[in-house]
Amino acid sequence: MRGLDGKVAIVTGGARGIGRAIAERLCAEGSKVMIADLDAAAGQKVARAIGSEDCIRATECDVAEKLDVRNLLAATRDAFGPIDVLVNNAGIVGGAEFLDLKEDDFDRVMAVNLKGAFILSQAVARHMVERVKAGETPGAIVNMSSVNAVFALPTQVAYSISKAGISQLTRVAALSLAPYGIRVNAVGPGSIMTDMLASVNKDAEARRVVMSRTPMRRIGAPEEIASIVAFLASEEASYMTGQTVFADGGRLPLNYTVPTEA
Ligand code: NDP
Repeated sequence: MRGLDGKVAIVTGGARGIGRAIAERLCAEGSKVMIADLDAAAGQKVARAIGSEDCIRATECDVAEKLDVRNLLAATRDAFGPIDVLVNNAGIVGGAEFLDLKEDDFDRVMAVNLKGAFILSQAVARHMVERVKAGETPGAIVNMSSVNAVFALPTQVAYSISKAGISQLTRVAALSLAPYGIRVNAVGPGSIMTDMLASVNKDAEARRVVMSRTPMRRIGAPEEIASIVAFLASEEASYMTGQTVFADGGRLPLNYTVPTEA
């Protein structure tokens, strides 16, 4: 895709699932990728499986920790140079009914999914703005939202709120950074085949219910999200900012006239 070759990208949560597919895709497009993950060993292993140290590395980072974020920026710049692309992909779920959800569990989900994305976006955006002022090419930020930014899941209270927040973070950051040509967009996946979906994968009834609300009648693959992230990060999306692009097998357009049986 135009404008990704030779670019320097950070992918959070890149040791597994969708993040791994994004790291792989950006590498295939010629970008230099720093995987930032809680699990440093898994990150290193994935990096080695994808490519050489010249094009992909991994570093330990909890996106909810400001110091880790600062270290991530320094490690990326040391390894590959100035940062062109940030993919805020790291995310966790925290299941409990609204009446039962514990404050600590709410806080952790919000800290990783929303505040982490804010801290990292702000730090990288400041770096990108300095580069634009120095006459260099503007970069791009891609956030990982979810269909649950729109849907309400009473068993995923903090998750749903955090993903709605990601879509708004995308919009406000896009407006602040538009004068510099820096674009901010998001992807909102439906059900994608990763460890996060383990409960649905293992439970035939849960899977049937999910499929009954998925017009394309299948779970998506991480690569089908990675390709959208690559597009949004590339110059092919040069006039697009502040958007959340949903890839959900047709789930969001469903309405009350559509039968829900699989
Ligand atoms: P996975 O659970 O498979 O992978 C998430 C990765 O993020 C793991 O490597 C995990 O590390 C890492 N991670 C978790 N917390 C942190 C943290 N604080 N700092 C850095 N890295 C962290 O998730 P998916 O690939 O399924 O999901 C990726 C993103 O896509 C998430 O934002 C998720 O909300 C979103 N999404 C996923 C959907 C799906 O159906 N799978 C649907 C809609 C959105 P570790 O292994 O050490 O925990």
